[in-house]
Amino acid sequence: MNALADSLKRQIATTGPLSLAEYMTACLLHPEHGYYTTRDPLGAKGDFTTAPEISQMFGELLGLCLAQSWLDHGAPERFVLAELGPGRGTLMADALRATRAVPGFHAAAELYLVEASPSLRVLQAERLAEHAPAWCGSVDDLPDGPLFLIANEFFDALPIRQFSREGTGWRECVVGLSGGKLARGLTDAVPQDGLEHRLEDTADGDVIETCAPAQRVAESVGARIAAQGGTALLIDYGDWRSRGDTFQALENHAPSDPFANPGQADLTAHVDFEAIAKAAAPASHSAMTHQGVFLERLGITPRAQALAQKLEGDALQSHIAAHRRLTHPSEMGSLFKVLALYPQGAAPPPGLDP
Ligand code: SAH
Repeated sequence: MNALADSLKRQIATTGPLSLAEYMTACLLHPEHGYYTTRDPLGAKGDFTTAPEISQMFGELLGLCLAQSWLDHGAPERFVLAELGPGRGTLMADALRATRAVPGFHAAAELYLVEASPSLRVLQAERLAEHAPAWCGSVDDLPDGPLFLIANEFFDALPIRQFSREGTGWRECVVGLSGGKLARGLTDAVPQDGLEHRLEDTADGDVIETCAPAQRVAESVGARIAAQGGTALLIDYGDWRSRGDTFQALENHAPSDPFANPGQADLTAHVDFEAIAKAAAPASHSAMTHQGVFLERLGITPRAQALAQKLEGDALQSHIAAHRRLTHPSEMGSLFKVLALYPQGAAPPPGLDP
């Protein structure tokens, strides 16, 4: 019994196939049956884990990077410290602990969390109680002021559309019904506004993905940073230009069929960093950099060595494994990328090149 599957099937039978974006939105954020709305998906007992849940070093280094950027921008005496999709609040808690020693940073920060899930908001409220966060449903609701923002594995959760090239047109991947089950289908080929540039680097049958909500978020963050100052650190898995079918479902840390159990699996797609960088103009963007390289430049190895001094046995082994997992190219080190947004004429934050 899957109430969301039944309701989506009824909807498709009545009004026709759904775009992948509509399907993803329902699966992730349906008010009663959505994946994020109904649970805490993170950690060993959940379906997936993320860098801040793997090691405290991740949030510490990102926090210090953002604080240094705040200093480099003249230490504005009031600023908006924001996180998009904060999960359990672990990253922000680690970032705020590490930045206690930065004079004036906490006093100047007003903490805002952009979170869609009511159940995760509860966890964030517990974790970050001493910092009195406020919540927003969207970046558009953030108050004015210099904006220093972090987003880790936020953009990959936003709904994508997927297209397969045919001639100069594109067949869109849709979700319909086959033998009473939810199944992937393709529309006829039609030209798509905004995909003209992808005719240059694709051939018949090639699959690409677009994420309009990610572009809207990047546009809003970029415009604020260009006009009011600040820095955004965006970390996610993906690449400079989307290519291929990256739509995937994860359940209990293992890949699953994204159409088998709507609302019960995490659905993600790789992030197209080029599309984000373009949408964020007039803010400047850094070079897209591998997470492993970025963390090494920020000093993860000396930090790992310092923490290792106080550990032994299993705790030491899992700490060493966590360091490797975050940075090694065969683990998260090169799959995950970092992109920073900052005002034109300013320097990129530490660890990133212009
Ligand atoms: N950044 C955290 C969690 C990543 S999971 C970490 O690294 O551990 C994705 C997060 O984005 C969750 O908190 C989820 O509820 C949130 N989210 C997903 N779609 C969203 C949307 N459209 N608006 C706001 N938050 C969203």
